[in-house]
Amino acid sequence: MLVFSSRRLLKILSLDFASAMALYPFIIVSHPYLKNHETLIRHEKIHLRQQLELGIIGFYIWYALEFLIRWFRYRNRRLAYENISFEREAYARESDATYLSRRPFWAFLAHL
Ligand SMILES: [Zn+2]
Repeated sequence: MLVFSSRRLLKILSLDFASAMALYPFIIVSHPYLKNHETLIRHEKIHLRQQLELGIIGFYIWYALEFLIRWFRYRNRRLAYENISFEREAYARESDATYLSRRPFWAFLAHL
Protein backbone atom coordinates (compact mmCIF):
# COMPACT_ATOMS: atom_id res chain seq x y z
CA MET A 1 0.00 0.00 0.00
CA LEU A 2 1.25 3.45 -0.95
CA VAL A 3 -0.40 6.70 0.11
CA PHE A 4 0.09 9.80 -1.99
CA SER A 5 -1.69 13.08 -2.52
CA SER A 6 -2.95 14.42 -5.83
CA ARG A 7 -5.88 16.76 -5.78
CA ARG A 8 -6.11 16.77 -9.57
CA LEU A 9 -6.10 12.98 -10.00
CA LEU A 10 -8.65 12.54 -7.21
CA LYS A 11 -10.87 15.18 -8.77
CA ILE A 12 -10.84 13.29 -12.09
CA LEU A 13 -11.28 9.80 -10.62
CA SER A 14 -14.02 10.67 -8.14
CA LEU A 15 -15.75 13.33 -10.27
CA ASP A 16 -14.81 15.88 -7.62
CA PHE A 17 -16.69 13.90 -4.98
CA ALA A 18 -14.12 12.41 -2.59
CA SER A 19 -11.28 13.63 -0.37
CA ALA A 20 -9.61 10.21 -0.60
CA MET A 21 -9.85 7.09 -2.71
CA ALA A 22 -8.50 3.55 -2.66
CA LEU A 23 -7.20 2.37 -6.00
CA TYR A 24 -5.36 -0.85 -5.32
CA PRO A 25 -2.54 -0.78 -4.25
CA PHE A 26 -2.70 2.98 -3.76
CA ILE A 27 -4.55 5.36 -1.49
CA ILE A 28 -4.92 8.80 -3.03
CA VAL A 29 -5.71 11.75 -0.77
CA SER A 30 -6.57 15.29 -1.81
CA HIS A 31 -4.07 17.04 0.50
CA PRO A 32 -0.69 15.94 1.94
CA TYR A 33 -1.84 16.40 5.55
CA LEU A 34 -4.53 13.73 5.02
CA LYS A 35 -1.80 11.07 4.70
CA ASN A 36 -1.68 11.15 8.50
CA HIS A 37 -5.43 11.10 9.07
CA GLU A 38 -5.76 7.72 10.79
CA THR A 39 -9.50 7.28 10.42
CA LEU A 40 -9.49 8.25 6.76
CA ILE A 41 -6.55 5.97 5.94
CA ARG A 42 -8.19 3.11 7.87
CA HIS A 43 -11.39 3.67 5.87
CA GLU A 44 -9.44 3.42 2.62
CA LYS A 45 -7.52 0.35 3.83
CA ILE A 46 -10.86 -1.40 4.34
CA HIS A 47 -11.63 -0.60 0.69
CA LEU A 48 -8.25 -2.03 -0.36
CA ARG A 49 -9.15 -5.29 1.41
CA GLN A 50 -12.58 -5.34 -0.27
CA GLN A 51 -10.89 -4.75 -3.62
CA LEU A 52 -8.51 -7.68 -3.13
CA GLU A 53 -11.39 -9.96 -2.17
CA LEU A 54 -13.24 -9.16 -5.40
CA GLY A 55 -10.25 -9.32 -7.74
CA ILE A 56 -10.00 -5.53 -7.83
CA ILE A 57 -12.01 -5.01 -11.05
CA GLY A 58 -14.94 -6.93 -9.53
CA PHE A 59 -14.99 -4.38 -6.73
CA TYR A 60 -15.40 -1.45 -9.12
CA ILE A 61 -18.11 -3.19 -11.13
CA TRP A 62 -20.04 -4.11 -7.98
CA TYR A 63 -19.48 -0.61 -6.54
CA ALA A 64 -20.81 1.09 -9.68
CA LEU A 65 -23.83 -1.22 -9.96
CA GLU A 66 -24.73 -0.88 -6.30
CA PHE A 67 -24.37 2.90 -6.55
CA LEU A 68 -26.74 3.01 -9.53
CA ILE A 69 -29.31 0.80 -7.83
CA ARG A 70 -29.20 2.89 -4.65
CA TRP A 71 -29.25 6.15 -6.61
CA PHE A 72 -32.42 4.95 -8.35
CA ARG A 73 -33.88 4.01 -4.98
CA TYR A 74 -32.92 7.12 -2.98
CA ARG A 75 -32.86 9.66 -5.85
CA ASN A 76 -29.93 11.27 -4.06
CA ARG A 77 -26.25 10.83 -4.97
CA ARG A 78 -24.91 11.36 -1.45
CA LEU A 79 -27.38 8.91 0.13
CA ALA A 80 -26.70 6.38 -2.62
CA TYR A 81 -22.96 6.61 -1.97
CA GLU A 82 -23.28 6.35 1.81
CA ASN A 83 -25.42 3.22 1.50
CA ILE A 84 -23.18 1.19 -0.79
CA SER A 85 -22.31 -1.91 1.25
CA PHE A 86 -18.57 -1.22 0.90
CA GLU A 87 -19.06 2.27 2.30
CA ARG A 88 -21.38 1.11 5.07
CA GLU A 89 -18.71 -1.33 6.25
CA ALA A 90 -15.88 1.20 5.94
CA TYR A 91 -17.75 3.95 7.79
CA ALA A 92 -18.93 1.56 10.49
CA ARG A 93 -15.41 0.23 11.14
CA GLU A 94 -13.07 3.10 10.29
CA SER A 95 -12.58 4.01 13.97
CA ASP A 96 -11.69 0.45 14.97
CA ALA A 97 -7.89 0.17 14.89
CA THR A 98 -7.87 -3.64 15.03
CA TYR A 99 -10.76 -4.34 12.67
CA LEU A 100 -8.74 -5.45 9.66
CA SER A 101 -6.81 -8.01 11.70
CA ARG A 102 -10.02 -9.89 12.55
CA ARG A 103 -12.27 -8.94 9.67
CA PRO A 104 -14.09 -11.94 8.15
CA PHE A 105 -13.84 -12.62 4.41
CA TRP A 106 -16.40 -10.66 2.35
CA ALA A 107 -17.55 -8.86 5.52
CA PHE A 108 -19.18 -6.17 3.39
CA LEU A 109 -22.00 -8.64 2.67
CA ALA A 110 -23.25 -8.08 6.22
CA HIS A 111 -23.77 -4.43 5.25
CA LEU A 112 -25.90 -5.01 2.15
ZN1 LIG B 1 -15.26 4.87 1.28
